[in-house]
Amino acid sequence: MTLPYRVYDVIVVGAGPAGAYSAYLCAKQGLDTLLLEKERTPRRKCCAGGVLERALKLLDFPIPPEIVEREVSGAAVIAEGHRHELRFGERMAITVRRERFDRFLVEQARKAGASYLEEEKVVQVKESVPQVDVVAGSRYQGRCLIVADGVGSKLAEGLMGPYTKSRYAAGMSFNCGLERDPDDLMEFYFYKGERSKGISPPLYGYGWMFPCRMGANLGAGGAGFNRSMIQERISEIERSAVERYGKVTWREELAGHPLPLFVRSRLHSSLSMAVGDAGGLANPITGEGLTYAFTSAALAASSAALLVKERDDDATAQYERRCRAKLVRDLDAARLTQKAVRGLLGTLDLTRFFDAFCESEELKTACKGIAQGGADWKGLLRKALPRVPALYFSSL
Ligand SMILES: Cc1cc2nc3c(=O)[nH]c(=O)nc-3n(C[C@H](O)[C@H](O)[C@H](O)COP(=O)(O)OP(=O)(O)OC[C@H]3O[C@@H](n4cnc5c(N)ncnc54)[C@H](O)[C@@H]3O)c2cc1C
Repeated sequence: MTLPYRVYDVIVVGAGPAGAYSAYLCAKQGLDTLLLEKERTPRRKCCAGGVLERALKLLDFPIPPEIVEREVSGAAVIAEGHRHELRFGERMAITVRRERFDRFLVEQARKAGASYLEEEKVVQVKESVPQVDVVAGSRYQGRCLIVADGVGSKLAEGLMGPYTKSRYAAGMSFNCGLERDPDDLMEFYFYKGERSKGISPPLYGYGWMFPCRMGANLGAGGAGFNRSMIQERISEIERSAVERYGKVTWREELAGHPLPLFVRSRLHSSLSMAVGDAGGLANPITGEGLTYAFTSAALAASSAALLVKERDDDATAQYERRCRAKLVRDLDAARLTQKAVRGLLGTLDLTRFFDAFCESEELKTACKGIAQGGADWKGLLRKALPRVPALYFSSL
């Protein structure tokens, strides 16, 4: 006789920030939750490790000091060899090592009551309403599925249809030690736009150095950038870091990962919801994904409760509507900003442009608002648009 499978209220696939936080919130609401991860933790995740204050505010718990690498109170923009600094005198973000941060989030999900299995790669999911069958090393059944398997999600594709605009940006980074503690600023390196071919708009991307304890995360990325272009930029950033903060004392191998540039055209099916990168929910101008991962996790967990406890068969569609209202409009504003910046890059004197930008109190306040969560990209776009002609002509 074959025994019936245990039916979970919610199965979450993928224990990155979006999946782990979804599992935490589902378990906290009393839902019988299973979190499945294909890797063994702690697993490496290629990421700059910047967690903006607005992402931290979405979490239900504080991040313990041992997970925080550095508190960051501003940004430095480096363009054509000139450094422009924006110091805000208060915390804008923290930096973390992703393997530790992600493991901490999984621990919170387990403490809240979620079951967690790692090295359990999901290879197939099938919805047969009212349940979802999940095939990994073993088989599982759930009343609801949260798809959090990251960028280019195959599971979302099978359940919700293709990722129509399959355009990604490429990013590469590594953590390293430095002889001296870097400044508490996130450093962004901008390049004069290079055209990919003919009269196409210049490529858009940037490099970074985010401070850690006696070290940093160095990386670069962008849409249309290939591996050797990215590596070249990272070597330049490394030279500049060594000049400022002393020799590299240890280093990880350089790793790469794609970043979604578009939101999926469908974020749900009858019993499933795609969260975080699996839904294409990342910022196309900055590459920031954690705010969107946590916001979509919270929306999915509340729809999961509606579906399981109230048997509301509109719950997953409601998730999609709320996600679009809360996140997608803002991502669209960021995409528009990215297009505008990209169009201007080839023609501007970047030094003058960033000088003018950093002198504008209004734009500085808008940037601070985005980092801290009091403002959004729509607001920045509204404030920046009337200033574009002046900024543009003073930067030619
Ligand atoms: C170079 C780079 C730098 C970045 N820097 C930042 C930054 O500084 N700040 C920021 O906010 N964002 C940053 N991002 C974006 C951020 O890393 C992502 O948005 C974030 O990791 C999304 O979280 P997630 O949980 O959706 O996906 P992921 O973190 O990718 O997690 C997905 C999880 O699913 C697991 N999985 C996949 N398939 C399966 C399967 N079949 N079965 C079981 N498990 C599976 C994976 O192993 C993984 O653990 C950066 C991205 C890149 C590429």
